[in-house]
Amino acid sequence: NKQVIPFHEGNASMKALLGGKGANLAEMTRAQLPVPPGFTITTEACLAFFKVGNRLSEELLEQIASALGQLEKQKGQKFGEENNPLLVSVRSGSVTSMPGMMDTILNLGLNDVTVQGLAKLTNNERFAYDCYRRLMQMFGNVVLGIESIHFEHLLHRLKEKEGVEQDQEVTADGWKQLIVDYKRCIQAKAGRDFPQHVYEQLRMAVEAVFKSWNNPRARIYRKINRIPDEQGTAVNVQSMVFGNRGDNCGTGVVFTRNPSTGKNEFFGEYLINAQGEDVVAGVRTPLAIAELKSAMPEIYDQLYQVSKQLEKHYHDMQDIEFTVEDNKLYILQIRGGKRNAQAALKIAVDLVQEGFLSKQEAVGRIEVSHLEQLLHRGIEENAVKDVLATGLPASPGAAVGQLVFNADTAAEWSRTGKVIILARPETTPEDIHGVIASEGILTSRGGMTSHAAVVARGMGKPCVCGCEDIRIIPDEKRMLVGNRVIEEGEWITLDGASGRVIIGAMPLQEARMTEELLTVLKWADEIRTLKVRANADNPHDASIARQMGAEGIGLCRTEHMFFSPNRLPVVQRMILADDTRERKEALGQLLPMQQSDFEGMFEVMDGLPVTIRLLDPPLHEFLPNLEELQRKYDRLTYEGGSDLEKAEVAQLLRKVQTLHETNPMLGWRGCRLGIVYPEIYDMQIEAIFRAASRCIDRGFRVVPEIMIPLVGHANELKLLRELVDFVADQVLGKDKLHDCPYKVGTMIEVPRAALTARQIAAYADFFSFGTNDLTQMTFGYSRDDAEGKFLSHYIDQKLLPHNPFQVLDAEGVGQLIDLAVHAGKRVKPSLKTGICGEHGGDKESIFFCHQTGLDYVSCSPYRIPLARIAAAQAFI
Ligand code: PEP
Ligand code: MG
Repeated sequence: NKQVIPFHEGNASMKALLGGKGANLAEMTRAQLPVPPGFTITTEACLAFFKVGNRLSEELLEQIASALGQLEKQKGQKFGEENNPLLVSVRSGSVTSMPGMMDTILNLGLNDVTVQGLAKLTNNERFAYDCYRRLMQMFGNVVLGIESIHFEHLLHRLKEKEGVEQDQEVTADGWKQLIVDYKRCIQAKAGRDFPQHVYEQLRMAVEAVFKSWNNPRARIYRKINRIPDEQGTAVNVQSMVFGNRGDNCGTGVVFTRNPSTGKNEFFGEYLINAQGEDVVAGVRTPLAIAELKSAMPEIYDQLYQVSKQLEKHYHDMQDIEFTVEDNKLYILQIRGGKRNAQAALKIAVDLVQEGFLSKQEAVGRIEVSHLEQLLHRGIEENAVKDVLATGLPASPGAAVGQLVFNADTAAEWSRTGKVIILARPETTPEDIHGVIASEGILTSRGGMTSHAAVVARGMGKPCVCGCEDIRIIPDEKRMLVGNRVIEEGEWITLDGASGRVIIGAMPLQEARMTEELLTVLKWADEIRTLKVRANADNPHDASIARQMGAEGIGLCRTEHMFFSPNRLPVVQRMILADDTRERKEALGQLLPMQQSDFEGMFEVMDGLPVTIRLLDPPLHEFLPNLEELQRKYDRLTYEGGSDLEKAEVAQLLRKVQTLHETNPMLGWRGCRLGIVYPEIYDMQIEAIFRAASRCIDRGFRVVPEIMIPLVGHANELKLLRELVDFVADQVLGKDKLHDCPYKVGTMIEVPRAALTARQIAAYADFFSFGTNDLTQMTFGYSRDDAEGKFLSHYIDQKLLPHNPFQVLDAEGVGQLIDLAVHAGKRVKPSLKTGICGEHGGDKESIFFCHQTGLDYVSCSPYRIPLARIAAAQAFI
């Protein structure tokens, strides 16, 4: 079958086979844009290559040779021929874009003979030998695995010898000398010669690009972006055009709209007399694209036309790599432009207004994981005193952290819990683990499209780029601004929105919803059927939740209301009480506190349902630590303390020992506590209805939903439901009952509850799936310990596709949910169902909830915008 496809035979719909880049090149070729001709080796060929142990089949090699033959005809050049040599680039091109993660080799086809041909042909010896040494450098690094630092050293030495600073100033003889040095270096480091045979170069390059699919940084990138390892990459072989042949040449990257703000303006950078890698790698700081207008007006106009044409064609903002060779424009590649969340929203809203997209399409395009960026923080402006320098505002948001100058240190320090700002002269894909570990990124070189900028934007991390006033010296673990020295470990703040680098840890300000976000959310609300509620435990969080668009509270964990210094001792007294009388006394103190909490919640949520979960304390969280207490007791015994003191500690110790459990998460939790000590739930229920009554009197509409945790048997719920109804009757009386349409329901978080949903539904008005516990108990993994222990190994070894505490395990836990929903609704069609575990804020899990027919998801307030959009996407 056909594993090599010339650009003019493909099209945009063949992305799975040709990769994103290949499909776009084909589509542009069809649209007759100025694309240098070439061909794509398919992802299928890549998978076949892996299957036979990383070997290119004879058949594939033949297909490549024949495609190359065609290309030679098209270009009127010959691969490996002295007089008019064809030169090609070899680039990876995966189905999902992975910027900078895999490898590229330019200028293939040069050797000791063809380089002379190129020199003659272009009448530019300096240029030809520069191309050749670049090939050796890239080939040596990517294909032969020699670290680039070795080549850089040799280059540096040469420049010193020639007394020049810039690469462009090196003479032809200099390059020739460098080629000799490079050959020696390759021989020494790789134990073989640089291949002179051009077909061998091509074969090895294709192999290397295929293999780069599995390099560590590509693997990490796929993992965090959830890109399947099974996709493989295509390889694009494209005839070369040169942006480095002189001053009527250049290269650059443009976005059809501003990728930071989304503004409809032409945005990008270019370099005169340079090859594409110079821009992307951020080695030289490029010029703003607006300057091209005066430097090369015709090229600028043509580029602008092409960009508008492409945007119209794809109905989306595009990222375009172009090269100008001898005053002629070529488009080397395009892709949907990476953008930050704010830009994505603005572009989507604008495209709807410009008539290119429907509202559904616009909502469908929002990358929900990026929305968190929007809820990014800013700096408290009046605290800013010492602005060290200002660079390019490459990725918005503010970050505070301790300075670190290399990626390994960043990763190490962050493992010990430190928050890090990674500062580098520039970043390369090799720094990816450091970028992941950091709060924010600072570079002294490179533009808005440099690696650091692109990667940070993708991850939603604040980034300041190209801050040239700062000299970053990683080897000395410090950076300099003028004669000011800033050492490793010092605290700094980055403002990715303005590009400022500020000394010290500035206080940060939470983000607000932008107009575009509100528009997209409104559209999402029109589309979705799944409701979105919030998990909130106090009136402040509840009011944030409302601002974020919550349609109710799905979970108020009442035990969280007790975690304050003035309440904890009362709660401890309640738990450790010797008898009911003592317990009731403590409860009597708690009642008004709880009542005022609930009043606050009801007022904020006026008219919307508020699900209040009765106490579910893992008891150990509320008790003094047993070991510490034991030590205290020993100390008093051996070192002598007063008898009274000893007696008190001894008594406390005895009680804590009695309550101590080996397996507290499977112990005396949830309704088990309420059943053994009914007075506790009694107090809470009373507080709820008293609060309801007060709020009704004040004119609020109150919709309480009382939720019983950790039910595993219908009898538990039956008993506690009777208690709720009884107290409601007592507190509200007949008249108020009418104004307070309360519900009683349960959490489904024990597998047995799911399995016996039919029986439980008889006593429940609603089910709320507590998927944290349900996951814990279905897998038998401790939710508190598993992640730091074996779970990461399981995920690395692909025994599990995701962390099941983050992404709902649809196959296992999901089956229990599905079963419970359907069994419950069969008994009681009016049964309301929702989810309130952490999964309620996760996109994939939200999709599952929609498909299973749940009525709502409930998640933390800041995730609500994300959940609203994901719920709409689930519907689309
Ligand atoms: C759950 O178990 O999913 C839940 C929401 O309850 P908690 O996390 O408080 O145990
Ligand atoms: Mg739970």
